[in-house]
Amino acid sequence: MDEVLEAARSVDWAKLGERILCDACLGRLFGKVGHGHTNAERGRAVRAEVRLPEGVCGLCQGLFDGLDDLARIAARALEPWEYRTFVIGSKVDPELQAREEALWSELGVSQPEPMKAELNREIGKRVADLTGKEPDLAEPEVVAVVDPAFDHVEVQVNPLFLRGRYRKLARGIPQTRWPCRRCQGKGCARCGGTGKMYPTSVEEVVAAEVMKETGGTGHALHGMGREDVDARMLGRGRPFILEIDIPRRRTFDTAAVVARVNGSGSVEVDGLVRATRRDVVALKEDRAAKTYRVLFRSSPPVDEAKLKKELSVLLAQPIAQRTPFRVAHRRADTTRHRRLRTAEVLRVDGDLAEVRVTADAGTYIKELVHGDAGRTHPSLAERLGVACEVLELDVLDVHDGE
Ligand SMILES: [Zn+2]
Ligand SMILES: [Zn+2]
Repeated sequence: MDEVLEAARSVDWAKLGERILCDACLGRLFGKVGHGHTNAERGRAVRAEVRLPEGVCGLCQGLFDGLDDLARIAARALEPWEYRTFVIGSKVDPELQAREEALWSELGVSQPEPMKAELNREIGKRVADLTGKEPDLAEPEVVAVVDPAFDHVEVQVNPLFLRGRYRKLARGIPQTRWPCRRCQGKGCARCGGTGKMYPTSVEEVVAAEVMKETGGTGHALHGMGREDVDARMLGRGRPFILEIDIPRRRTFDTAAVVARVNGSGSVEVDGLVRATRRDVVALKEDRAAKTYRVLFRSSPPVDEAKLKKELSVLLAQPIAQRTPFRVAHRRADTTRHRRLRTAEVLRVDGDLAEVRVTADAGTYIKELVHGDAGRTHPSLAERLGVACEVLELDVLDVHDGE
């Protein structure tokens, strides 16, 4: 406390005149001096040294006497929500803030703490005591914004994030809900009033079960890349994070939810574990290679030896892919360069051939096979000198974290 008193002695107290300050407001003038004291403790120590008038605080008008009540109101406002971590925010009258800053410059104090910071911290400590929950400034599950002028608390509920890997066992299912192109989701003749291009999606199958348990108001699915609507996603599955908006509950029997999702017959998940918003960023940045199975028809047919030879040629060089025709309406026309990492022939049967390839993240596999009218170069069709039509595509593995 010595450094606080030293700072207080350097202030010209005559300038305060008849102004009255409570212990918290007095101590806050030196709020960033020293550690381990509340501002009220700092204020009491200063008051013992300097003669100051007593009465209702001219700065906060008694606001800091009401912290216990504000904390009780905040704790009650948070009651309907299940949460482990929280943070307190507050609304401070701009006039009050201006008055506080004027006082700082009048007295020439160098290390004051703003009123808002103290309110948030002191109410936060009390809410932690009342609720047994943990303050978390970085990624709180709920935020209670206290407005002391009206004894009002506004609660913001942060999303729940759940991570897993999904398998998509059926074709014709997009990864995320796909609004109808014609009506943008309102419902029209094209979509049969559903507002969607496809009846369901991986997102909807998984989210439907999670929403029942959490009582959320909305959802989003973040995938580590995505496969085509007509491609299956097999093997270990694709990493994803499901985001649930404004969840009432955050803990539930995930094994039961997983079992219900897996009962859908079209989508399976390996589990659902808690994640954070930071995990979503990392997931979106991952550049995992993928392994695919491709079944295609070549006309005229090619023999296995020729197919093997040309695949090995493709393995040895970078592949330039101009944005494919099929996605040109929604993506910029650029050229990307990708590499095949492995390639093998699974079978050749008349004009049908099946291959397994592993390619860099972001490789257009269908185009790699059929060539997209020369927009992908080189391509398997170009190397073989025949037309190749892709019949089936499956993602067999996503090599994340390898
Ligand atoms: Zn005060
Ligand atoms: Zn429509």
